Amino acid sequence: MTEDLQSAEQAAIVATVRAFVDREVIPHAAEFEHGDRFPEAMVEGMRELGLFGLTVPEPYGGAGLDLVTYALVVEELARGWMSLAGVLNTHVITAYLIATFGTDAQRQRFLPALAAGRLRAAFSMSEPQGGSDVQAVRTRAVRDGDAYVVDGTKMWATNGARAGLVATLVRTGTENDPPNRRLSCLLCEKGPGFEAGAPIAKLGYKGVETTELVFRGNRQPLANLLGSEEGRGFAQMMAGIEVGRINVAARGVGVARAALELAMAYARERQAFGRPIAEHQAIQFKLADMATQIEAARLLTLAAARRKQTGQRSDVEAGMAKLFSSEACHDVVLEAMRIFGGYGYSTAYPIERLYRDAPLLIVGEGTNEIQRLIIARGLLARAAD
Ligand SMILES: Cc1cc2nc3c(=O)[nH]c(=O)nc-3n(C[C@H](O)[C@H](O)[C@H](O)COP(=O)(O)OP(=O)(O)OC[C@H]3O[C@@H](n4cnc5c(N)ncnc54)[C@H](O)[C@@H]3O)c2cc1C
Repeated sequence: MTEDLQSAEQAAIVATVRAFVDREVIPHAAEFEHGDRFPEAMVEGMRELGLFGLTVPEPYGGAGLDLVTYALVVEELARGWMSLAGVLNTHVITAYLIATFGTDAQRQRFLPALAAGRLRAAFSMSEPQGGSDVQAVRTRAVRDGDAYVVDGTKMWATNGARAGLVATLVRTGTENDPPNRRLSCLLCEKGPGFEAGAPIAKLGYKGVETTELVFRGNRQPLANLLGSEEGRGFAQMMAGIEVGRINVAARGVGVARAALELAMAYARERQAFGRPIAEHQAIQFKLADMATQIEAARLLTLAAARRKQTGQRSDVEAGMAKLFSSEACHDVVLEAMRIFGGYGYSTAYPIERLYRDAPLLIVGEGTNEIQRLIIARGLLARAAD
């Protein structure tokens, strides 16, 4: 299957992460998830494995690995607990933004600390009044001497509580500028006038905090403007979120795989009408459809990662992978719950956690309605070229 497509190096990395997940994550995930506790030791383990620097270029202390390897790693983490893939996501997007669009000084200053996981990063576009309409961002950054003064409120910042650095989409332009040139990306460091709100209580995706971010007269040095040119923020963030959509697509594969593995094991053990339920054709059909959806989702995810790695615009591919994988994940988890019967609904079994985690993937990183718009518009634009 798709494992045949991995290089020897990728297979070795996947095996290392899988062993870590089997040993350090799966036995403890339910306890941390039900307690909504941040998994310090697991995150420390991820740091020791070098996962925070996986995609950071080697000159800055990272492993300089490609996005296909990253997607494979995210799948393994999510198979253990989806929240760990979320701990990595905003960090990797921000490191990508700095490596791709940052000035030399910004790369030197931030990337080594990000690669080592000493500094953790969040990525913030969404605001209380809306997430889909990115260009309607209200948080404003106004130049004042050697700094920008930032005012406004951001919403839904994953890792907002623990990140020391937040790639933040802010309004720098005026109504006279073209809509896509009014926004900039500021690399915001925590300090006076910039703080995270209390963690938002969520259906799933627990353990990793998602918060509001409040800026009140906060000063960020002009040197923290990503790429040092105003009006580039929308394009930069859209390029960054393609990396985020690859993460979400890979998470979908990982969560769905966990559901399938659990359902297969249960179906072989659970007896009904004198034989294991796995021997009933209705259950076999479910398993076949689940496995096929997962395989298709993985192929789309790896194809999107491969294209993004070439440096080409990948909105269509990342959108397709995110759309298909998140919907497949939702379907697969529901089928797993059916196979578990009543026990699927019990908090003593992990299926209920997967069932609460899966819907985030439909909404996060841009809703699937928005993915369909992006895919269709991208296809039409390519056809017009
Ligand atoms: C747990 C969690 C973590 C998150 N983490 C982050 C993060 O780290 N950083 C960050 O920036 N954001 C984050 N988000 C925000 C997420 O990206 C937004 O929730 C998402 O983009 C949707 O925005 P919204 O919730 O404001 O919905 P809205 O934009 O208000 O949309 C509401 C509904 O209208 C639909 N809709 C809107 N416009 C259209 C249209 N033109 N055509 C068709 N349908 C449309 C949407 O699809 C949706 O169904 C997170 C969200 C969650 C739940």
